[in-house]
Amino acid sequence: MNRTPRWRILAPVVVAGAFLVLTALERRRPLRRAREPKWRHLSRNIVFAGAAAATVNLLERPVVEPLAAVVERRRWGLLYLCRLPRPLHLVVAIVFLDYTLYVWHVLAHRVSWLWRFHLVHHVDRDLDASTALRFHAGELALSVPWRAVQIAAIGVPPDALRLWQNLVLLSILFHHSNVELPIEVERLVARFVVTPRIHGIHHSIVPEETDSNWSSGLTVWDYLHGTLRLDVPQQAITIGVPAYSTPADVTLTNSFVLPFGAQRPWRVIPGDGEPEAHRHSPTASELAP
Ligand SMILES: [Zn+2]
Repeated sequence: MNRTPRWRILAPVVVAGAFLVLTALERRRPLRRAREPKWRHLSRNIVFAGAAAATVNLLERPVVEPLAAVVERRRWGLLYLCRLPRPLHLVVAIVFLDYTLYVWHVLAHRVSWLWRFHLVHHVDRDLDASTALRFHAGELALSVPWRAVQIAAIGVPPDALRLWQNLVLLSILFHHSNVELPIEVERLVARFVVTPRIHGIHHSIVPEETDSNWSSGLTVWDYLHGTLRLDVPQQAITIGVPAYSTPADVTLTNSFVLPFGAQRPWRVIPGDGEPEAHRHSPTASELAP
């Protein structure tokens, strides 16, 4: 059965609309003070987005879309063994994709040759919706085999894959955005999905704060793994990576070649040691109920 083409047209419009709305809200209600001029930051990250989109279209799509079709036709993967009703199959596939993306994110930090590429995302000195598009093409290329294993092992059919891809895009645009939501609203939303304040802590220059909040969709994975941190106020956060915290470190050229050169010990500011961790009592937390 063919998918409705309307969905294919609508999804990019919704994603682009979300990006524009979030970028407009960032001007009206910024969560953290920006360090770079907005337009310079935005235009640089849009170049990254172009390279990322080309990589996805040339490398990821030709692999994952036919694979998902084969998985559905031959009933490969864990969920086909369970013989779930179709709507439940779709929901569980999306939840499992979300969890295995959590695992991929941890690996992107822990495996040194993956970190070289994910570092390019983290060196951004401001965190906003455009940072969600700042992924090195190499990281996206390296994620293709992981994605293929996710699809085949879980048993992800094409419609679940497409829906998840769009939900992930919306989710990463939202939680990278520099939008100050009313704290009561964010506290409620943060119980279920990753929010700007939660992900802001992951992009902190303090290494032990970077080593937290790995979820990209549902917050439940950080709850279950004990990796959730809610106790750092956004005003206390400096965004970035200690060893790469100068304006020269984030330029287009330096960022594109960053994975291929000699690596600095990322946890320390050159000549100044590791940034001091924030010490906050649980009562100082913005997000904890
Ligand atoms: Zn990360």
